[in-house]
Amino acid sequence: MDKIVNRKQQLRLFLTELISFMVIFSILGLIIFARFQQSTYANIDKGLEQRAAIVSKKPMLMDRPSDFKTITIYYDKNGKILNRDSLQRFSASILKVKGQTKDLNKTFSKQVGKATMRGVYVKVNADTQRHRLPAGVEKRNNIKNNDFLKNAKYAMVLQNITPDLQGINRFKNLLLAALILFGVLVFIISYIVSRINMKPVLKAWQQQQDFVDSAAHEIRTPLTIIQNQLEGLMTKPNDTIKDQIDPIIMSLSEIRRLNGLTSDMLTLARANSNAIAIKKTSVVVPEFMSEVLDPYQEFVQSEDKQFVIKTETTQSVMLDTKRIHQLLVILLDNAAKYTMPGDTITVRTVIENNSLKIQVMDTGQGISDANKKRIFDRFYREERSGNKETGGNGLGLAIAAWIIKAHNGRIKVTDNPGGGSIFTVVLPIK
Ligand code: ADP
Repeated sequence: MDKIVNRKQQLRLFLTELISFMVIFSILGLIIFARFQQSTYANIDKGLEQRAAIVSKKPMLMDRPSDFKTITIYYDKNGKILNRDSLQRFSASILKVKGQTKDLNKTFSKQVGKATMRGVYVKVNADTQRHRLPAGVEKRNNIKNNDFLKNAKYAMVLQNITPDLQGINRFKNLLLAALILFGVLVFIISYIVSRINMKPVLKAWQQQQDFVDSAAHEIRTPLTIIQNQLEGLMTKPNDTIKDQIDPIIMSLSEIRRLNGLTSDMLTLARANSNAIAIKKTSVVVPEFMSEVLDPYQEFVQSEDKQFVIKTETTQSVMLDTKRIHQLLVILLDNAAKYTMPGDTITVRTVIENNSLKIQVMDTGQGISDANKKRIFDRFYREERSGNKETGGNGLGLAIAAWIIKAHNGRIKVTDNPGGGSIFTVVLPIK
């Protein structure tokens, strides 16, 4: 079931990334292509319009446009071509392109055979006096310029834009190829990214699942004990409380355990959802330490253990006193739980490298190397004879780790050279 959910989530993530990338690339490609096409046409049209402006004012019978790209066809008022002689080298179909008076001065495209022509149809307003040739010159050269000037009423400027269209097409193909290549790249990248992105999600999911499993397990044991004890009491309705004091004490102790467990779970759940804010205040280190440690002195000594306090600083630091107090209680409780009479518990506090360093050292049972990392996991407890009776729930160090993380600090556990363990907490104070 979980696998299917995970696969579905990953697929959704992958598709979302892929589609978003492709949409962005396609829009980008479309914009680039449209701009290219638009600027190509704008250039052609500009040339045509400039040529048309010249042609309409200064029509020329022997038309040799300076750019050699355009052809000009002149018509009389009935649409008859006037410069047919000078157009002999062009195919007859070009001469069939007809202009419409209603489309005057508007550029248009027309397919002529295999070529695409772009053109503009204009009215000719020739200054017939200025361009008129002296009669002698006209006759000598056998040209009918003066007739032409008189009759020319319309002109069409045409340009073969097939090469430009081929250029646009080539650009389109290049863009398409680039899009496909990007598509493949995006496909691969999206797949890798979705896998990377899913990892923390999957981890969190798994952690949550494990947390719920372990929590249910932890809660069930005390509940079963309480149920059994109460059912046992029900079978002896005539007994006094004094007669049944043992099951009552056991039930109360399990209820206490449940209480501790739920408050620990609540702390972790809130920590996880960032619902607990860290409130730092300035504290004088020795004052704060003795406030936390003094109550332990008597308790530890009552268990025939030694308690040594080494506070090697008098400085003030910024801390969330409530949370750091909670952290020290967790470490001290553990030190007390996992030591035997005759052992020593030492708490050393110093300022080193702009950090407050607190070490809780004990000469107790120690922690195996394999478990040094795992003890900070939720509900993780070392499987050892005796550990069961300590009444822990395996959440203490997980809470400690969260408090330290919230202070941007570090915690590590090492072996005490003489046996036992050293928990070192480093909290930056700047
Ligand atoms: P617990 O409630 O079981 O003490 P913790 O999260 O505080 O839960 O600790 C996790 C485990 O780490 C403990 O079950 C114990 O096995 C080990 N541990 C913690 N502190 C010590 C210590 N000072 N000495 C030996 N083992 C320890």
